[in-house]
Amino acid sequence: MPPPPQNITILGAGITGLQTALTLATAPSPPSSITLIAQYLPGNTHPTYTSPWAGGHWRSHASSAPKDALARAWDARTYAVWRNLLAFGDGTPGTEKETVEEREKRIGLGVRTSFNYWGTHTPETVAQGEGLWWRDVVDGFEVLSEEELGKGVVFGVKYESVCINVPRYLEYMFERVKRCGVRVINTTFETGAGLRGVVDDVKVILKREGLESPDIIINATGLSARLFADEDEQANLTPIRGQTVLVKGEAKAARTITHFGLEDEVAYVIPRVGSGTTILGGCKQSGNSDEMVDGALSERILRRIRDWGMADELLRWEGGGFEVLSEQVGFRPGRRGGVRCEVEGGGRVGGVWVVHCYGHAGAGFQASVGCAEGVREIIRGVGGRGKGRGSKL
Ligand SMILES: Cc1cc2nc3c(=O)[nH]c(=O)nc-3n(C[C@H](O)[C@H](O)[C@H](O)COP(=O)(O)OP(=O)(O)OC[C@H]3O[C@@H](n4cnc5c(N)ncnc54)[C@H](O)[C@@H]3O)c2cc1C
Repeated sequence: MPPPPQNITILGAGITGLQTALTLATAPSPPSSITLIAQYLPGNTHPTYTSPWAGGHWRSHASSAPKDALARAWDARTYAVWRNLLAFGDGTPGTEKETVEEREKRIGLGVRTSFNYWGTHTPETVAQGEGLWWRDVVDGFEVLSEEELGKGVVFGVKYESVCINVPRYLEYMFERVKRCGVRVINTTFETGAGLRGVVDDVKVILKREGLESPDIIINATGLSARLFADEDEQANLTPIRGQTVLVKGEAKAARTITHFGLEDEVAYVIPRVGSGTTILGGCKQSGNSDEMVDGALSERILRRIRDWGMADELLRWEGGGFEVLSEQVGFRPGRRGGVRCEVEGGGRVGGVWVVHCYGHAGAGFQASVGCAEGVREIIRGVGGRGKGRGSKL
């Protein structure tokens, strides 16, 4: 027998909260009600709201190690669902005859050829990239020949990736979620009194809106989860600072160079599909929470991408340079041990099951669909459960 429908409140409207809301609302037996509470929504920008700052594209960071099994499954599932969405649309009335370009613009996703290059070999690149688990997941995977590798590059591959026009995709997800009947409350809940305090304040917020207490709360608050986690868990959560430069013109392909000798810097070019702009990056500075743009780093980003010929088609501005539109900083929600996707271990909190889903680091978009389906499975289990201890996925 299917579990009874539940009343669910999701905390957070980043990609994790939005995708979770959509996955639950469109499930064959959806919850009786879904409410999303968030301080920041698509269209807002703030340092504590990571999603708008993402690059972003599908470039899996999961390794072939057993510890990354879930991350691999989530990334693979998201890739497949996105490709399907772009190929066949989402069933929105009136969009049946849209062209590929129109669909990319409307949704904010697009398939682009992606080149990944390595400055030194890693365990995954040896033996012609045999260790790259995703080679059989993506379309068009090819190992580049030596002639196709630039100076200082020892290995490279190309494949069809999905690139994201992040602001547009977040808006698109938000529109879809609202169309599915998800209620949105744009407010801040108190985090100063731990998880129990959050649950109590959420109940107060819902009551103010004339709503009942939820059966389940989903914690999709990204890095802010550390504000109300217990001490041990707080120690697991770290901002991973990223800085990007938005330039005019849309690069023809996505390109990334890693392992070129600097531990916390990478070089990437990601076209923001359908927007006439491109994101250039970047860095992964663990533990750094400086919100200010580092001008010298922006210079390094631009110089590398120009000198390494990663986006020559954009060099027509300002006499051979890039036309810079903006520079920005965002903080990936890093978590030791990977994403926390599980029921709060001690049973109900204030009479409510809490399902955590945060700590996606640099993979929140590319893991989003698979991870949200994981949350759906956890909730199914919770629905059939009485009082007792929570469990991991
Ligand atoms: C420079 C950069 C490049 C990246 N590139 C990629 C990429 O190419 N591919 C990829 O997959 N990922 C990428 N990422 C990672 C991705 O952006 C994150 O993993 C993802 O955005 C995390 O989303 P989230 O929904 O978990 O958290 P967030 O987006 O931070 O959302 C948290 C939500 O919780 C709400 N909230 C928190 N506290 C409260 C409170 N007290 N009251 C009310 N609401 C609250 C916030 O308002 C917000 O709505 C990148 C990140 C950065 C910074």
